[in-house]
Amino acid sequence: MATKESSGDPMEKLVALCKRRGFIFQGSEIYGGLAGTWDYGPLGALLNENIKKYWRHTFLDTREDTYLLDASIMMHPQVWKASGHTEGFTDPLVEDKVTHKRYRADHLLEEQGVDVHDLSLEEMGKKMAELKMKSPEGNPLTEPKIFNLLVEAGIGAVEGAKEKVYLRGEITQGVQVNFKNVVDAFHPKLPFGIAQIGKAFRNEIVPGNFLFRVREFEQMELQYYITPEIEEGGRQYEYWKGVSMHWYQGLGISAERLRFRQHEAHERAHYAKDAWDIEYHTPFGWKEAWGIHHRGDWDLARHQEHSGVPMTYTTDSGEKILPWIIETSGGLGRALLFTMLDAYHEDEIGGEKRVVLRFKPSIAPIKVAVFPLLKNKPELVAKARSVYEALKKEIPETLWDDNGNIGKRYRRQDEIGTPFCITVDFDTLENNSVTVRERDSGAQERVALAELSFYVQEKIRHS
Ligand code: ATP
Repeated sequence: MATKESSGDPMEKLVALCKRRGFIFQGSEIYGGLAGTWDYGPLGALLNENIKKYWRHTFLDTREDTYLLDASIMMHPQVWKASGHTEGFTDPLVEDKVTHKRYRADHLLEEQGVDVHDLSLEEMGKKMAELKMKSPEGNPLTEPKIFNLLVEAGIGAVEGAKEKVYLRGEITQGVQVNFKNVVDAFHPKLPFGIAQIGKAFRNEIVPGNFLFRVREFEQMELQYYITPEIEEGGRQYEYWKGVSMHWYQGLGISAERLRFRQHEAHERAHYAKDAWDIEYHTPFGWKEAWGIHHRGDWDLARHQEHSGVPMTYTTDSGEKILPWIIETSGGLGRALLFTMLDAYHEDEIGGEKRVVLRFKPSIAPIKVAVFPLLKNKPELVAKARSVYEALKKEIPETLWDDNGNIGKRYRRQDEIGTPFCITVDFDTLENNSVTVRERDSGAQERVALAELSFYVQEKIRHS
């Protein structure tokens, strides 16, 4: 059976495969690249869509108590003041170059007995270099910077009179500022949730590890509104932790590479009453994949205070309350990266070495590839085309491939994780059956054309 691969850096191999096979490209590559940005190629974009569809299925489509929202990326600067993001990120920060944890430069210096009063940013940097200071974990540090994670943009037509706005640093606030709108339009009973998928932007000091830490990324979030009574001492929080972990495993990721980790009090974001991460065991250690946070009434209370607009919910008994929020939130890029890392295997099949992405069929970007056994036999090609066209109507992620010999086509499809390859041969012309080859085992089965679509769809459904 297959083993996880041996020699070579698994991340480098994955990055190379992603480029070679059209999953992911460096952002603005022809101009030397723009750090912290990646572009999704045809297969990466399909994989992204499948992960989003699966997320929607769990958090929206199969529930009665959640609503979809799609808020603007550009938001009023006051939003970020109220949410605590503008204040929270204007400290002189240094970042551990290995763990990417950030520290207050002034605090680290004070711990070394340095009087930081009146020290400029440059002076702090000089002092840290003089003292050869390392992070608390013993790793090198970046230069100190006055740091605001929010990405700024200017809007307005007149140069010089542009208004500064922030691209959203998290998608959450788009939901919180619309809480009242959703309540007034739909009168949902508590508990209920608002789900959103969308882009967020962060001026990460050190982007890196491929899709793991980037400056532009997509988040998938559910904000679930409850009351202390509904929470009943943590019942809802535990429930959403369970749903989130189940969802992550459902990407096809092995359970032993996923775990929960509770944030220590000092790690928690300014809004969090409690916070747990789902972590994935990457080649660079256990890393955050997803967060389940108890936000309390922080967001609604702050927006009420800053906007002057009541954010209260009126209960059946006429009481006006600020609900609590449990959020389950994760990055799409990280989900895609971890799905790919987990699916990546190198093994041997029929005495030949191969790279194979063992995607769960329901997640795989391409589900089926159809080949004519030989490219130079018009009757075979015509038959294969008709099989392909019929199948593509039922399963849009069907691919035509007639390049090279069958062995090469299998290798190519294995490398992009196509679960099923269908070959049209001379017997097909006689008896209307085709060979279906399964990616992981290489097992081949003869299937009647009349049953082909059903056969493949059932396999995908039960994967
Ligand atoms: P980290 O500690 O890794 O910076 P975070 O705790 O700041 O992440 P959250 O604010 O909780 O992250 O964001 C929710 C999710 O968004 C994370 O679990 C992660 O999947 C994703 N995410 C956050 N920052 C990035 C980033 N720079 N690049 C890619 N995904 C990110």
